[in-house]
Amino acid sequence: MHAIVRGLFVVALLFGFLAQAQAASPIARDLPPGLNVPDAARPGPALDVDRATEAYLALLSPEQRALSDAYFEGGYWLQLWGVLYGVVVAALLLRSGFSQHLRDIGRRVSQRPWLQTMIYAFLWLVVMFVLLLPISIYQEYFREHQYGLATQTFGPWFVDQLKELMVSLIVMSPVIALLYAAVRRAGTRWWVWAGGGVFVFLVFVLMLAPVFVDPLFNDYKPLREGAVRGAVLSLARANQIPTDNVVEFDASRQTTRISANVAGFMGTTRVALNDNLLDKTSLAEIKAVMGHEMGHYVLNHGLRLIVYLTLVITFALWIVHRAMDAALARWGARLKLEGRSDPAALPLALAIFSIVLLLLTPLTNSIVRQAEAEADAFGLDAAGEPNGFAMAAMRLSTYRKLRPGPLEEIVFYDHPSGYDRVHRAMTWLKEHPDNVPAKDSPAASAAKP
Ligand SMILES: [Zn+2]
Repeated sequence: MHAIVRGLFVVALLFGFLAQAQAASPIARDLPPGLNVPDAARPGPALDVDRATEAYLALLSPEQRALSDAYFEGGYWLQLWGVLYGVVVAALLLRSGFSQHLRDIGRRVSQRPWLQTMIYAFLWLVVMFVLLLPISIYQEYFREHQYGLATQTFGPWFVDQLKELMVSLIVMSPVIALLYAAVRRAGTRWWVWAGGGVFVFLVFVLMLAPVFVDPLFNDYKPLREGAVRGAVLSLARANQIPTDNVVEFDASRQTTRISANVAGFMGTTRVALNDNLLDKTSLAEIKAVMGHEMGHYVLNHGLRLIVYLTLVITFALWIVHRAMDAALARWGARLKLEGRSDPAALPLALAIFSIVLLLLTPLTNSIVRQAEAEADAFGLDAAGEPNGFAMAAMRLSTYRKLRPGPLEEIVFYDHPSGYDRVHRAMTWLKEHPDNVPAKDSPAASAAKP
């Protein structure tokens, strides 16, 4: 088994260099900078919401749209392959006896069950990192370059992966040890305790990640001077958000995507804009995006999502509990697993957990998508930039399928689709015929020669 791990590591590295060699020709995927409002999206009594929406959708060429669809639909399959690959890895670790071997190492080092589990968890996280490397190199490095979304060469990308591993070792080893302490103490009710632990854990992650984790990967600093700063801070003041919590960060180090986010909880909450958003888009788009992010902040989506996700995860843990006991009764003796409190059975638990979470993605996506739609509505009212919002939605649609079917949207979308967002922005504009920014923004026809 050690030889297999070593071999896979070498293959993964080779694959990485191959990807780097092939990544030389990025595809022209971005929309040109600036806001040019289609004539059909001018405010006034003649505005037709559907025609205005179609005019925005036409900003993407058929080639750009095919590229975006291919990238996004490929992601559906990657979710499935990722889980299947993980299940195969778990089966390998258990049937080869490698997982049981890692548990025995822990037992040789210490008599204490919590320390044995922590040692197992540490070693297991390293092994999983190596075994999952081929799939993460393909998905997060090679494929991102193929679609012109990544900016890092292989070396810096891999250094970021190692940093993520370090964070997961520091955070997850004790968390897994705690989880097993709950399994030993609470018996058949362990999943209730674990659910409570998930809530506390998520609150801590949300509170501490912006302070301790995010700065490992990017530079965060106060928003740059200029017109954008004035407009964004004004929007923050108007919506009761402390202005020293508005920052920018250098996402262009890793990606070409535009984005912004709200991170933190209570004292650490902050609204962050990425530099691609600041460099590539117009003021109207930035204000529209910030209105959306401030919606997350004001509507307290962080805490609400933690509560919902805790419930979903606790349900998943209950299924894991039932399925684990059944699987252990059947194969436990043959695999030399000593019951549910044996850390060597962790790969089995994780395989079941990942299958359950995959089946629950329509639910989790819908929970998140609902919050995103609320933030959209808040942002349109707060920023009053419907054309900026429609334009930003079109930029995001260069790598998110623009117009999914209704079922496809429920299953796979954690944000409203580009079509929905543009349509809602145009609906808002129809109801606000005196909207000043929309009247003042440059027309697409005026920009053409
Ligand atoms: Zn959002």
